[in-house]
Amino acid sequence: MADRYQQFVESAPGRFVAKRFGMPQPTPLRRYEPGQPVLAGPALVGGAPGGRLLEPVAAVLRAIHAEVHVTQQDHVQTAFDAPVATVWSPAGEEGAEFAAILFDASSIARSEELRALYDFFHPVIRRVQPAGRLLVLGAPPEHCQDPRQATAQRALEGFTRSVGKELKRGATVQLVYVAPGAEAGVESTLRFLLSAKSAYVDAQVVRVSPGEAAAPADWERPLEGKVALVTGASRGIGKAIALTLARDGAQVVCLDVPQQGDDLAEVANEVGGSALQLDITTDDAPQALAEQLRERHGGVDVVVHNAGVTRDKTLGRMDEELWDAVLAVNLTSQERLNDALLAEDVLRPGGRLVSVSSTSGIAGNAGQTNYATSKAGVIGMVQSMAPALAARGCTINAVAPGFIETRMTAAMPTLTREAGRRMNSMAQGGQPVDVAETIAWLASPGSGGVNGNVVRVCGQSLLGA
Ligand code: NAD
Repeated sequence: MADRYQQFVESAPGRFVAKRFGMPQPTPLRRYEPGQPVLAGPALVGGAPGGRLLEPVAAVLRAIHAEVHVTQQDHVQTAFDAPVATVWSPAGEEGAEFAAILFDASSIARSEELRALYDFFHPVIRRVQPAGRLLVLGAPPEHCQDPRQATAQRALEGFTRSVGKELKRGATVQLVYVAPGAEAGVESTLRFLLSAKSAYVDAQVVRVSPGEAAAPADWERPLEGKVALVTGASRGIGKAIALTLARDGAQVVCLDVPQQGDDLAEVANEVGGSALQLDITTDDAPQALAEQLRERHGGVDVVVHNAGVTRDKTLGRMDEELWDAVLAVNLTSQERLNDALLAEDVLRPGGRLVSVSSTSGIAGNAGQTNYATSKAGVIGMVQSMAPALAARGCTINAVAPGFIETRMTAAMPTLTREAGRRMNSMAQGGQPVDVAETIAWLASPGSGGVNGNVVRVCGQSLLGA
């Protein structure tokens, strides 16, 4: 559905009115197109002394052919092999703007040292390009032995979440906690968060742990040779996921209920994949799916649990059928399908399970006790299964979309819809492709260290954490 308000404020009179009355001014977001460079301009890098992440960051920036500027500190220049990188000083480069600003905070071990954040970001925060990317890299607090260090690392969250609310013009900020030993596995995460693929992901905390992260031979087609199953693929977000995974090289099995057969066949055709008509809540669905994937495809590498329904009513007015239907599709079917795919080793080594949750599952929502229960359950499933998946060399993660422009949100009452669109740092709704790109990152063979994460695709919605 067209966002008429956004179209209005993009016109000259609309811009004038919005500015005059302090109304939200959403910036059109930069989105990924094949062949687009990861960064649209130079990167600036700094770090607290003694950090262990400057070298991995340098390697990624070299791999994406970024123009790198570094601070005047010796340890940063050494990691970046200055004089190859340009040394930056706030006074020296009047008017310079950066497409990315990265800071290694992994060595910060006491609250007093948090001052390094201020010293680095204060002179450059107003030099972020439109759709620019800020990244702070730290050490997971739960891995810090010393309470002082854990405290200082945890403090980074408050910093990044506030910066996210200050940034304008489609720029985003993220905090990436990298566990000791996981340094070599950060490339796929940094590529995603720096690129236009993460357009509607803002102020998130991503954890990278040691895992089997196999860098793809071709970063433009990381899923080449992989088989991916997408449930609820006939329309909306599921269709965007099927298209995006196919673009990345996967052979996509598109699943939906028989009633959606025609649309499903169209999507399967478009992605050069296959269509599977199946109601995932039926008793024999897990077995039927496992057999189909084993016999037709020899197994599956990526499973995206996207199928979902809403049946909204306040609890006192909710019939039991509404409760049961939502729990069955959104949560229990995911558990049953996972059990079958894992018990029979249909999920191949290096497999990726990705579930679609919702910000309603994090924050709760009036009229959605059934839906939010199911979506919070998905988060519980992902977090509780992550260790077992890691032991098999696989991962399981969730994405939690906020307000995404689909038929579901087009059907909302006007006021609720407008509030959903504007109450986030981007002042606009996300697109199905924003969810799909996030899933494609989690599905990549390079993302083996990203396990048990819940990543919101919500433009830093004011709802929830
Ligand atoms: P949608 O209704 O357009 O698509 C959902 C698909 O799931 C449909 O094609 C439907 O036929 C399929 N499906 C439903 N029950 C099924 C079953 N029993 N077996 C097989 N397939 C089944 O919705 P959407 O907006 O594209 O949402 C996709 C996912 O994203 C859902 O899980 C939804 O809860 C979640 N989500 C959406 C938003 C949003 O703003 N649109 C926000 C948060 C989360």
